[in-house]
Amino acid sequence: MFQKIGKATRDKLARLGIRSPFDLLLHLPLRYQDETHLYPIADAAPGQTVLVEGIITHASVTYKPRKMLAVKIRDASGTLQLRFLHFYPSQVATFTPGVTVRAAGEVRHGFFGAEMVHPQCHVVKKDTPLAEALTPVYPTTQGLSQATLRKLAGEALRQCDLKDTLPQAIRAALRLADFEDSIRLLHQPPPDVSPAALDERNHPAWQRLIFDELLAQQLSMRLHYRRRHARGAPPLPSGKTLTAALQARLPFALTGAQQRVAHEISADLARPHPMQRLLQGDVGSGKTIVAALAACQAIENGFQAALMAPTEILAEQHFLKLSAWLAPLGINVAWLTGSLGKKDRTAALEHIASGAAQLAIGTHALFQEQAIFSRLGLAIIDEQHRFGVHQRLALREKGKAADAPHASPLTPHLLMMSATPIPRTLSMSYYADLDISVIDEPPPGRTPIVTRLVDNARREEVFSRVRDACMQGRQAYWVCPLIEESETLQLKTALETCETLSQTFPELAIGLVHGRQPAADKAAAMAAFKSGDIQLLVATTVIEVGVDVPNASLMVIDHAERFGLSQLHQLRGRVGRGAPQSTCILMYQPPLSETARARLKIIYENADGFEIARHDLRLRGPGEFLGARQSGVPMLRFADLERDQALLDPARAIAEQMLAEFPEHAELHLTRWLGLQQEFLKA
Ligand code: ADP
Ligand code: MG
Repeated sequence: MFQKIGKATRDKLARLGIRSPFDLLLHLPLRYQDETHLYPIADAAPGQTVLVEGIITHASVTYKPRKMLAVKIRDASGTLQLRFLHFYPSQVATFTPGVTVRAAGEVRHGFFGAEMVHPQCHVVKKDTPLAEALTPVYPTTQGLSQATLRKLAGEALRQCDLKDTLPQAIRAALRLADFEDSIRLLHQPPPDVSPAALDERNHPAWQRLIFDELLAQQLSMRLHYRRRHARGAPPLPSGKTLTAALQARLPFALTGAQQRVAHEISADLARPHPMQRLLQGDVGSGKTIVAALAACQAIENGFQAALMAPTEILAEQHFLKLSAWLAPLGINVAWLTGSLGKKDRTAALEHIASGAAQLAIGTHALFQEQAIFSRLGLAIIDEQHRFGVHQRLALREKGKAADAPHASPLTPHLLMMSATPIPRTLSMSYYADLDISVIDEPPPGRTPIVTRLVDNARREEVFSRVRDACMQGRQAYWVCPLIEESETLQLKTALETCETLSQTFPELAIGLVHGRQPAADKAAAMAAFKSGDIQLLVATTVIEVGVDVPNASLMVIDHAERFGLSQLHQLRGRVGRGAPQSTCILMYQPPLSETARARLKIIYENADGFEIARHDLRLRGPGEFLGARQSGVPMLRFADLERDQALLDPARAIAEQMLAEFPEHAELHLTRWLGLQQEFLKA
């Protein structure tokens, strides 16, 4: 049928993402118009979309305030003004006094009485019948009429194979409506269907479509999981040599939550299939030690481990911390980032390739072409949400590189870590291709951070807070205003802020870190801050992840209204890491936009990362919240994770059951819903 559609229409359909008859069927109405009965003009409540019928008493084209066609109609109950801002000469010719018209739209009560702007309006005869059912209103694009979309949907309904992709047993168990009935009903609702149930999308037909969409998502994610799981990985059982030695040397005991997740990871590593696990834990929850234990387990089995961090600063912090933990155990740790000199770089690469380096730590340079591991058993990605999909996929494939002569044919185990907690509904949906471990308890001995919102007008008070803290032997961060649009401006702002603060605090030792600095300067500034030689560290968001200086007890965020929720939460997490009472001052510049105000209120009222993430999701929606990840994962068109939560668990369970017991149905379902999009998931 698509061949018969003219090119102009096909192009417009393509703009709506419709390329096949089945796409047309999944192009479901946004809402429905009730044209099944007429309202007396006087009864039409404001704001309600109604159909009225009347005789034209007056029609003219007027030019004030702008050109429009004004048509007055009358029925037995009253009169109504219809206004058309865009109109054709043919309409001026037909809408003449004495003619009867039907108009559908919203009635507004304006200064000149009741009116309807841009109604859908057509001439009728005395006995023109009313619609028998609700009229669907489709999402559309310029130049593509509702009538055309309705006609095409009707044809698609006649031509497409509407066979149910769910086995009868599953449909019955979940009391799901039949697919064909559902899709027909949504495009052509019968006369008796409730408009409210369709609008709320809790009608069984909508529920079926929403379930099918969630199921398709689960199927593709679980299939992806299974495919990777089917590969071989080196079994790395816990040898309790290095891991035990590391634990014995720690100045603290693991929390219950850390023990639990460490155990889950340890069990995965022992299996002959690659681990695919996401470790979630709020800022400061102690993920690094868990990663170090996993690395030890790989190393005690004679394999290499790699730890990748999104920024040089964080990678370097990890290098310092893990070297301090692991070097005394005789473990050889290598360091690889993009900014290493040629000689050091070559040496590091050789170390990694020969297997002499048992643990390699670095930025994504670790997983570029040249870096070849001799026996990579475990890859760890810290702050995984900061990496793009492609980097993560590249990493997943690493160690499998068949063209490398010495590379192991086995897939390494993969541990991803994230301090941006993901609400359960979202992780069940978009992270369904991973196993998830959660650290849900902070290490003991932390005092809660006090958060203050301070108007920029009270900057002086903030200055004295900084001075006091530093004079008491504590340290402070000053985060520069964020300039997202321009790196050059960001750099300028950072330099200026540092300059001004140096003048304000001549008595303090001040350092600066920013993204454009040479790596060595960055490292030097961080080291000086860590050792206490620098009291006030002026920084851009490069310190957002991973920086851990327990003596720092004050964080000032300049122009906090410009930062996102998770950024604010991460930045705030840089303090409160030691015993002293810590404070985070969010300095804002009024007037605040509504969203900025909402964000500041949320961060002020909440300390828990999961809670903040839930708010963030609500404010921004899943697409923005997930950022880069979405480009590799089909987004949901019909399902709403909040509203349709109850369908999520069954969708997941049924996906597993279908993959195991009804693979043909599963394949049919995936093809129907995702078609070519599936290609993404093979990556
Ligand atoms: P994150 O989860 O944000 O990566 P880190 O691993 O950097 O957190 O840990 C934050 C701080 O807490 C570090 O200084 C770390 O040494 C410390 N820490 C981790 N686990 C414990 C524990 N069980 N008891 C006390 N301190 C801990
Ligand atoms: Mg960390």
